Amino acid sequence: MSTPDIAVKKLSKLEPKGVMGNDRKIIREVYERLLAFYGPQGWWPVTPPGGRSPVYSGGPTNASQRLEVMIGAVLTQNTSWNGARKALENLSSQNGLDFQSLLEIPEEKLGLFIRPSGYFNQKARRIKSFISFLNERYGADWERFFAEPVSQMRRMLLGLYGIGPETADSIILYAAGRVSFVIDSYTKRIFYRLGITRGDIPYEELKQRFEKVLPAESELYNEYHALVVIHGKERCTAREPKCECCPLEQICVRRGINRLSC
Ligand code: SF4
Repeated sequence: MSTPDIAVKKLSKLEPKGVMGNDRKIIREVYERLLAFYGPQGWWPVTPPGGRSPVYSGGPTNASQRLEVMIGAVLTQNTSWNGARKALENLSSQNGLDFQSLLEIPEEKLGLFIRPSGYFNQKARRIKSFISFLNERYGADWERFFAEPVSQMRRMLLGLYGIGPETADSIILYAAGRVSFVIDSYTKRIFYRLGITRGDIPYEELKQRFEKVLPAESELYNEYHALVVIHGKERCTAREPKCECCPLEQICVRRGINRLSC
């Protein structure tokens, strides 16, 4: 796995201009602690050439893998990565993970292949709608989508059927490799417990707080979100978080926690 240079640099050496305050200190310290504890995560998982299953190898490096990330971002909505991974393996085994195949496959048949991801009829519709949009706007040269300005790319994604902010930002960051911080339920939970956000903070507000204090580097955003996810899954779990073996224990107020385990 290649390690993004920025992921191992001290964030204090990457000062953004004119931004001060508590957010900057905590958001940066959380990143450094999580990276030191878990190490680089190699997101987003993609299927290597000739492979059958997505692996964490540092993200997409070609058009086919970027398409796979876009489809994976829809498949993992409201489900674990495990279900999305099985759906991608099914598609891959049927040679269905390329643009033309996804354009041609009937929605019902696509739904059968992606059944392990849950909500498969809705997700089949979302994928077909996304692929049709790319085809109508860019044709066979659909990768031009990734060269659009980020704000425009985001606006277009949010206008598509079933694409919300988390999916849109995941596509921009992990498929296009552009700068857009991804927020998810783990981010909200962890930063609420740390004591720096409200529990009901809106998506856009929290996203802006990260983007204001972090250098605008896609490799950094990539690694940060991946670290938040592993931390939310392995230690800062919804019930009985493992605070006593947590790399953030010294800086966490543990807001709203009743039961612990370790
Ligand atoms: S100390 Fe506990 S509540 Fe705070 S981040 Fe760690 S696991 Fe979560």
